[in-house]
Amino acid sequence: MPDIRLNDVAMIYPFQKVTGLFDRKQKQLILEQQKAMPYTSNEGVIALQHFSAEIKNGEFVVVLGPSGSGKSTLLRIISGLERPVVGDIYFDNKDYKFVPAQDRDTAMVFQNYALYPNQTVYRNIAFPLEVKHVPREEIEPQVRKMARMLELEDKLNRFPHELSGGEKQRVAIARSLIKDPSVLLLDEPFANLDPLMRGKLRKQLKELHQAFNTTFIYVTHDQYDALSLADRIIILKDGIMQMDDTTANVYNYPANRFCAEFVGSPAMNFFEAVKVSRNNTISILGREYHLTTGQQKKIRKNTGIDVGIRGVDITIKDEGYPAVVSYTEIIESDIIIHVTVDEGKELTVVEKLNNADEMKYLAGQEVHLVADMDRLHLFDSDGDRI
Ligand code: ADP
Ligand code: MG
Repeated sequence: MPDIRLNDVAMIYPFQKVTGLFDRKQKQLILEQQKAMPYTSNEGVIALQHFSAEIKNGEFVVVLGPSGSGKSTLLRIISGLERPVVGDIYFDNKDYKFVPAQDRDTAMVFQNYALYPNQTVYRNIAFPLEVKHVPREEIEPQVRKMARMLELEDKLNRFPHELSGGEKQRVAIARSLIKDPSVLLLDEPFANLDPLMRGKLRKQLKELHQAFNTTFIYVTHDQYDALSLADRIIILKDGIMQMDDTTANVYNYPANRFCAEFVGSPAMNFFEAVKVSRNNTISILGREYHLTTGQQKKIRKNTGIDVGIRGVDITIKDEGYPAVVSYTEIIESDIIIHVTVDEGKELTVVEKLNNADEMKYLAGQEVHLVADMDRLHLFDSDGDRI
């Protein structure tokens, strides 16, 4: 089974031709909209650029990014459906740039299931083996094994329209894994499912990954998917990699402001353009933080720095920085306390919910905040972590 390596890969999609019933002004407008995409060249939209990464055999990597950030493009390049305009792709140090999709031993699972509507669940799962002319008697035990692993044993005679969304996606996963591919590519597979089903399928997917020892590359815009599934997260924005690190590092040491804001819920609190005093300290919620020598060196212009702190790293105590409660929310086992400080600046504080505490914070109540100064995230004016 291969390690996959991408080296300085770029993908450009040609601008769409605007033909037909548009008048000149409309055509102009459509072309301008395409050129207004974050990155374009003369030839078209740059969907991915300068992308280098190595994915080891058996890893579970999540590619996380907003819509349009190039996630599907990356999967299409790995699967061979698309050839990069620049850069190289290697499977186990073998140049795969010109190896067609059908010779790559990858399988793909899509958001919209892509099942055969007129075939039973059994036939849908068996299909990849049937096209390989595997003998019937060998197919059956494998289909039953997959059905067992994905809890579909009692659904084998049903047709796709008789299944729930979660069941359809389990059939799609069973069908992709029955070939025992060396790489499974999953393109937002749980996007159409409700949160409860997502949670259940995440767990199943983790178990399948362990059972199959196959490389899983899972693409999503959902940070919950990323944090719960990944060994490692690659963050994309506008076709450019923002971070490639372990899940813990992505959460604890976001490389830039984009990563800091995109990962974690509720979103990180931010203090903009905080002044650094002459003795290299900053003041946050009434407490001082002294910049390390490393941090001091990284500040290029003294235009102030952006300081982030997660809600879980602020505590409400008897004494501290005064704030007023706006409202509270209960999300799973957390209570999110929305407060305002100074001239209406809004912050969120997160506490664990225990039954008795539910009504502890009321709108309009004055509370006192203490920030954990070891958990600050500092970013320069370009948004890079310092
Ligand atoms: P994601 O999967 O993260 O939503 P995509 O990889 O689908 O992003 O798309 C990245 C960028 O490339 C987007 O700006 C998108 O509009 C553009 N794009 C994707 N596919 C095509 C295509 N076939 N033709 C033209 N532009 C495309
Ligand atoms: Mg996509």
